[in-house]
Amino acid sequence: MVIPGEQPFQARTGEPGLVPELACRILIVDDDAALRHSLPHVLARAGRQFRECDTVAGAIAMLESEHFDLVLLDYRLPDATGLVVLDWLAEHQREEAVIMISGEDALDAAIGALRRGADDYVRKPYHVAQLQRAVESALHKAALERANRAMSQRLRTSERLHRYLVESSPDLIFTLDAEGRFSYINPRVKPLLGYERNTLMRRPFTTLVMPEDVDRIAALLYSPGDAPPGESFNVELRLRRNRDELIDGTPECITVSLTGIPMPGREDGRKIVGLYGVARDISERKRAEEIISFQAYHDQLTRLPNRVLFKDRLELAIAQAQRRTGALAVMFIDVDRFKLVNDTFGHAEGDVLLRGIASRLGATLRRGDTLARLGGDEFTVLLPDITSPEDAEVIARKILDTLTSPFPLNHGDYRATVSIGISLFPRDGDTAEDLTRHADIAMYQVKRSGKNAFRFFDTELNSHYRERIVLENDLRSALQRGEFELYYQPQVSLAQRRVVGMEALLRWKHPGLGLVSPATFIPVAEEMGLIGDISHWVLEQACSQLARWRAAGHDELRMSLNLSPHDFDSQDVVAMVTDCVNRYSLPPSLLELEITESMMMQDAAGVAAKVRQLREAGLSVAIDDFGTGYSALAYLQKFPVSTLKIDRSFVRDLEGPSTNPIISAITGIARGFGLQLIAEGVERTEQAETLRTLGCDIMQGFLYARPAPASQATLWLYEPPTAALH
Ligand code: C2E
Ligand code: CA
Ligand code: CA
Repeated sequence: MVIPGEQPFQARTGEPGLVPELACRILIVDDDAALRHSLPHVLARAGRQFRECDTVAGAIAMLESEHFDLVLLDYRLPDATGLVVLDWLAEHQREEAVIMISGEDALDAAIGALRRGADDYVRKPYHVAQLQRAVESALHKAALERANRAMSQRLRTSERLHRYLVESSPDLIFTLDAEGRFSYINPRVKPLLGYERNTLMRRPFTTLVMPEDVDRIAALLYSPGDAPPGESFNVELRLRRNRDELIDGTPECITVSLTGIPMPGREDGRKIVGLYGVARDISERKRAEEIISFQAYHDQLTRLPNRVLFKDRLELAIAQAQRRTGALAVMFIDVDRFKLVNDTFGHAEGDVLLRGIASRLGATLRRGDTLARLGGDEFTVLLPDITSPEDAEVIARKILDTLTSPFPLNHGDYRATVSIGISLFPRDGDTAEDLTRHADIAMYQVKRSGKNAFRFFDTELNSHYRERIVLENDLRSALQRGEFELYYQPQVSLAQRRVVGMEALLRWKHPGLGLVSPATFIPVAEEMGLIGDISHWVLEQACSQLARWRAAGHDELRMSLNLSPHDFDSQDVVAMVTDCVNRYSLPPSLLELEITESMMMQDAAGVAAKVRQLREAGLSVAIDDFGTGYSALAYLQKFPVSTLKIDRSFVRDLEGPSTNPIISAITGIARGFGLQLIAEGVERTEQAETLRTLGCDIMQGFLYARPAPASQATLWLYEPPTAALH
């Protein structure tokens, strides 16, 4: 029977709300039916529910199937005493509160009941108030116990959770006491470092630290106990593995990132009583970083230091040498004719050879010397500690020696040689750049004079080098500064006894160096990418000069000018030339563009097309230095040129009136293809005579005139250079 409470719930005295007993179930076990029925009324409260029964067996049955908070248990029941219920509850570890109600006078009945787990004992007959108090008190106590149990359950759960988090953490987690000894360490220490946890307890943390790191870490750990709580810190350090557990190949330590948080004392927050630490294994990351930095500083093929690392070491060595006023040497080593190996045997063989050379070079050096590969077939050596140039010489000789025995390549034995340039600190420079560059210059000197040798840098080489730098710098601004001028060299027709053409030849009037030869600065301008602008300027000048001469009545005069291969590479040379010719209203055939045979060979298709377009636009095209290249005939079919210029070298070789087979072949070709012929570099009258008898009429050379400024050239138009008049 369920009796709903009639009174609204009231918070109990004491701590309201702390122990709510809202839903509360009470079992009344009594064989006195009147009592059973009256009690629910007497004890009614909001949320209380009552159940009744009249035997021990009935009580146990109900307890088995339902939950109660309180049992009001009669001592004497028809089938047994209430003690049996108490025993049953104890045996089943039940938490129901029990108030034993009994008419028994005997004290030991009460004691027996309380001993067996009853919470209270009320003797019949009782005052209602007495029973009510007992019920309230038992329920309160039960509620408190319940709350307690729940609390400790929660605590247990949360502790389990935290323990779980700490113990299964992939990081090493530990606490240290004020003396820096382990007071806790999680099981991770075993797989990570191979120690049993208990062997580490009370041992100083520093026993785990690699000796090199101990000082650094000790300073952080053992800050004086009563200093204000230190800041948390993070350091990278190496922890040593348990030696007994080391298997072959495992490194003896791991690198960890350690975060340490000082633990302040409970009473005195300013006092540090220990340290909480988390150490994360970052060995993998470290290794990856090391590999990456190794790759950044080493050459993949030979695993030698690369350019960056070499420069680093050299700079360091210079600084040290400066401090102790010592000397050092830098070697620049270049493998002779390496390209040949690559081209004939393939890159794989080339790589094998480079590795072989690298290893032999390395073997000749001492500890502390650095061998680096700059790339390609270039190596450098740093000898950081020499007492005289002879020391470097000894090493250089050793290097040349070590290469005398051949390298076995797939294609057979190969004997490699190298050219070595050496620069010395402080004599040849005091920066890494200077020393390397000077060694490089010395190496080039060796290459030029026959390879397979070594040579020290000397200042004469340096001045040559400096000249080149000056040249480069000044060339950039030469156009703007108006330092260029065109000279003209006449082309004389012996038959007509007059100047039929002028070749425009560029001159650079350098403010410091004087007149610089185009043979010197044109290749530099080509390398620097300045040639396009220069060609453009030359074209403009030559066209405007020709226009002026034409205006003065020399309307059959032809103007020749030289183009660079780069003009054909990068510019729309056809548009540039036709535009200029149109602007000066020149008959296009009077402008002759000189190109070299080598240009025709380099990019036959591209150049051929442009030559054809130029010819279609009516321009003349001459092959300069004709006869010095190969298979000139084959090219002539592809390149519809108008003029051949017999190279100076053939003219020079002309001895007296003897027939020269090459020149007669060239004159034959010119006749066959209907081309105009000009002989270059004519210096002596005999040469001119021979050329004339061979069928060449137009001459250019010092015999007639050296190239000269326009004002001088103009005079030749009126009065031909004297030699032409013979
Ligand atoms: P190149 O086109 O073969 O020019 C002829 C060179 O031979 C000129 O030297 C000229 O002064 C020289 N020469 C003329 N007659 C004689 C002689 O009888 N004997 C000797 N030994 N030499 C003679 P230059 O002016 O120093 O020019 C050298 C080269 O520079 C030219 O060779 C040409 O390839 C290049 N060059 C000159 N001006 C220009 C230019 O405006 N543009 C380009 N791209 N190259 C130019
Ligand atoms: Ca020329
Ligand atoms: Ca020439």
